[in-house]
Amino acid sequence: MGINGKILVFVDLPGGELDETGRGLLSYAARLAGILAAPWGVAVAVMPDSQQVASFGAYGTPTITCINDGETLLDTPALLGAHLARLAQNEMATLLLLPHNDLGSVVAPVVAHELQAAIMTELVTVRQSADGVRLSRRVLGTRIAETRVWDGIKFLVATVPPRALSQVIMATFRSSVPTLSHWSPATPVSIAAATITGRIPPDPQTVDLTEAEVIFSAGKGCTPATFEQLKELCQLLNVSFGVTRPVYDLGWTGFERMVGQTGRTVTPRLYVALGISGSMHHVGGIKDSRRIVAVNSDAKAPIFPNVDEGFVGDLTELLPRLLEQVKAAIGGAS
Ligand SMILES: Cc1cc2nc3c(=O)[nH]c(=O)nc-3n(C[C@H](O)[C@H](O)[C@H](O)COP(=O)(O)OP(=O)(O)OC[C@H]3O[C@@H](n4cnc5c(N)ncnc54)[C@H](O)[C@@H]3O)c2cc1C
Repeated sequence: MGINGKILVFVDLPGGELDETGRGLLSYAARLAGILAAPWGVAVAVMPDSQQVASFGAYGTPTITCINDGETLLDTPALLGAHLARLAQNEMATLLLLPHNDLGSVVAPVVAHELQAAIMTELVTVRQSADGVRLSRRVLGTRIAETRVWDGIKFLVATVPPRALSQVIMATFRSSVPTLSHWSPATPVSIAAATITGRIPPDPQTVDLTEAEVIFSAGKGCTPATFEQLKELCQLLNVSFGVTRPVYDLGWTGFERMVGQTGRTVTPRLYVALGISGSMHHVGGIKDSRRIVAVNSDAKAPIFPNVDEGFVGDLTELLPRLLEQVKAAIGGAS
């Protein structure tokens, strides 16, 4: 049992680049097309250059359709959504995939509204079952798993969180030379839409740790002095900081900074564990980080088998030197 039409995936090319999220979406769509035995294609608002088209081809992308004047639509997500809805109809798609980022999470409900379609946000896994296509997502900071069954016939709009995307080019993907085309709606699209005039990125110092891109965490191996140095380092590097439970118990931070089984489950691009032993209660909350780096003075610390890169070192020596170098690098040495 497959699905009734094509999978159309919208790839945002921020700054004209095929970034990690774009590559992840291509990999996700290619795998999904295999699982659902469905044709697929890509919609873009800006036509990629020849080098980028080759990158699309590495994932086996069959077609790339560029919405004419799409670049101007990027600042008016509602209008972009209305165009994508028309394009999806034109391409006889049944499923539209979008990234669950600032743009995708605004565009998706518009497409769903335009097409009177179902919507599934933060989709993670998809599998075929006897009763239909099972779609699962994680909500509430990935604590709750929710599964819904889709008949594969009614149009579905789905967003995929960047944390669930991997850029991997699987051996099963057959590289392609994508067919490029431009598209305009047959009749003008009009919708009452607000235009975005500016975007303020989240502040790593205050963003919820479940959304943080890079986290440096302090364990009991930190002294009050090294803890302050670590916080200063995080500010200079503009990254988020977390703590283990013993550090939270010391009253050095609020509960919202605690990472682990009873704290936040985090999925950053980079997690740096400083003076953290690596108990299962902590590691359970960081294991889905894309890259984990640890520094610990004990070469036998249990954190080491769980990391991508480990350094045996003393934080009282390392942190002041690191701070000094970062300050020098950013020209802020005092
Ligand atoms: C039900 C339950 C739930 C829990 N939930 C959580 C949770 O959500 N999150 C959590 O973090 N914990 C949780 N814990 C606690 C957990 O079991 C561990 O006790 C805790 O994670 C250990 O924290 P730590 O690594 O900071 O401290 P420690 O285990 O004391 O480790 C400190 C590490 O620092 C190293 N070190 C010391 N000095 C230096 C130095 N100068 N330089 C470099 N390294 C140094 C040491 O070698 C050591 O490995 C929970 C426990 C229970 C029972």
